[in-house]
Amino acid sequence: MDAAERGAALQAYGDETATCERCALAGGRTQVVFGSGNPDTDLMFVGEAPGFHEDQQGLPFVGQAGQLLDRLLAGIGLERDDVYVCNTLKCRPPGNRDPLEEEIAACEPHPFRQIELVQPRVVATMGNFATKLLSGRSLGITRVHGSEQEVTLGSSRVLLYPLYHPAAALYTPSMLQVLEQDFGRLPELLGRPVAIEPVEAEPCADDAGGADTVREVVQLGLF
Ligand code: URA
Repeated sequence: MDAAERGAALQAYGDETATCERCALAGGRTQVVFGSGNPDTDLMFVGEAPGFHEDQQGLPFVGQAGQLLDRLLAGIGLERDDVYVCNTLKCRPPGNRDPLEEEIAACEPHPFRQIELVQPRVVATMGNFATKLLSGRSLGITRVHGSEQEVTLGSSRVLLYPLYHPAAALYTPSMLQVLEQDFGRLPELLGRPVAIEPVEAEPCADDAGGADTVREVVQLGLF
């Protein structure tokens, strides 16, 4: 699929998701908060779940945490329209409580499909829930923030980059400082050649070990 086809497929998938009833959160939402931004970007952010304002407006990160995200983006010369933003859960948990395991499991196909269609090079997870889901590991954000790792998500090879959640950083100056530092590495990560889709290579004459796996390497476009 080219970028236009992926954008159209993302739009269609969003329309389909608007009536999602995969979990009980469907009963309490104002609307599904699917995601927003540039569907053909190298940089995607995945947060936790919509809050009050997101549920009202149908857009992710429009409250205070969203304003901080905007400031952090501006700090590296980017705007919302340069990136794609979505959440682990597409519907607001009552009272902004933490997502439940069964809600994450029910909603999981949505962020994975979004990643598959956007095909970002870097996926920045904000907070514990997105980080654990997309890394497939249970290590907490305090341990893994700021450490990138190359992973395969769906059919895409991406650089996963865990960050503290902006909502948590809003009220903890030391965490905000770390978030700013970690955010500051995004241009470097986006400028780094990233291996995409493993392809089978012909065995080399001096290679005793048969066919090896090589990766095509591409340079990222945002910086
Ligand atoms: N927090 C999130 O994780 N997502 C939002 O969309 C807003 C706040």
